[in-house]
Formats: sequence, C-alpha cells, structure tokens
Amino acid sequence: MDWISHIIFGLTIARLGFMNRPQEWEKYRTIIILVAIAASLFPDLDILGTHRSELHAPVVLAALAGIIGLAYPLSFRPLLSGFLSHSLLDIFLFDNSKDTIRQIIDIAITNDTTASEVNEVVITGVAANGIMLLYPISRTMYSIVLTETTYAIVAMLVLCIAAVTVYLTRRDRDKYQ
Ligand SMILES: [Zn+2]
Repeated sequence: MDWISHIIFGLTIARLGFMNRPQEWEKYRTIIILVAIAASLFPDLDILGTHRSELHAPVVLAALAGIIGLAYPLSFRPLLSGFLSHSLLDIFLFDNSKDTIRQIIDIAITNDTTASEVNEVVITGVAANGIMLLYPISRTMYSIVLTETTYAIVAMLVLCIAAVTVYLTRRDRDKYQ
C-alpha cells in the first residue's frame, strides 16, 4: 500500500487505541500522533535493504514496540498501532498483470522511454510478495492479491474506518465539554 494509506490507517488505529483513555489522549495528543505517523512509515525503511523483509513481520514489530514501550510507556500504543496496521495493509498486493501501473503512467508521461523507466522504478519499488506473516517460525511470504476493483474497495474501507473514528472522536469530545 502507499504511504498515505499507511498514515491514515495507522493514525486511525492509534486513535482507537486511546478511545478508553481520553485524558491521556487530550494531554499527549501531538506526541501520540507524531509517534503513530513515524511508526506507520517505519517498516518501509527496509526498502534500503530487502523490501518487506523481517521489518514487516508482525512479531518483530510487536517486539520492537514492546521494547521501546518499556522505556517510553506512552509510545507503546501508537507504535504498535502504526507498526501492525502497516504490516496488515502490506498483505494486500496490487495485481499488475494487466500493466495497470504502466497505463496510469502513460496518461501523465507521453515520452515512451521516460514512461518505461518510471514504470520500472515504480514496479521494483512496490514489487513485493506479501509479508513474512509467521516470521521467525517461517519465512514464507503471505499475500492477498487484489484486482483494480477490490483494491479500491480496501482503500475505501480504510477511509470508512478513518471516518467512523473521526466521528467517534467528535462525539467523545462533545461529551466531555
Ligand atoms: Zn511496507
């Protein structure tokens, strides 16, 4: 998934994680939001090495959140939310067998050589075989391949969950004021 979806989903889950802790949320909102954004992007640092490697494995990420959480307890929930929401979204793969990405690029770039270069970069950048869901037990990659339609549905679902969270947040705030 793209980084905007990761941030939206990570923030949403983090907000839900503080639903029953309104005082903590009100007091440390900015820090919580910043930690959640950083955490929801963090796993993709493995793009510097092997993309979607151990850094995308839920157990590794949960352990990392636990260790940092021991030192900074407030960071535990936003870290775990950002990390695991990222992992979850990356299980979904976009089915590019019909060269959809290239078609979209062709709309924006008319030069054929440039278009094919950009296509190459994007494909190798986003190319993945899913995530190592069960690492360290197994290094098997798990994925759910989405077509154009189902990809849009998943993206819509993420936005709907975000919208519901914003709604709940508003209602909560009204209740306390
Ligand atoms: Zn990722």
